[in-house]
Amino acid sequence: MAGKPLPFFPHRQNPDGSFDSICLRCFATVATAMDVRQLHSYDKNHVCDATSIAHRRESEKLAAAAAD
Ligand SMILES: [Zn+2]
Repeated sequence: MAGKPLPFFPHRQNPDGSFDSICLRCFATVATAMDVRQLHSYDKNHVCDATSIAHRRESEKLAAAAAD
């Protein structure tokens, strides 16, 4: 199975013991699961929300303009 490498999805443990998987590209919470191993299948199937990515780019542009 020589596919392209998966994007990196850091996993964060919640106070209740469940785990969140976070997409670093669109900053969505991909999934929440009690077993961290379950998150890998969600990570693989995650599709970034193009709307939130576009929104983020817009915010970065505004931030860059404000810094000038
Ligand atoms: Zn994403």
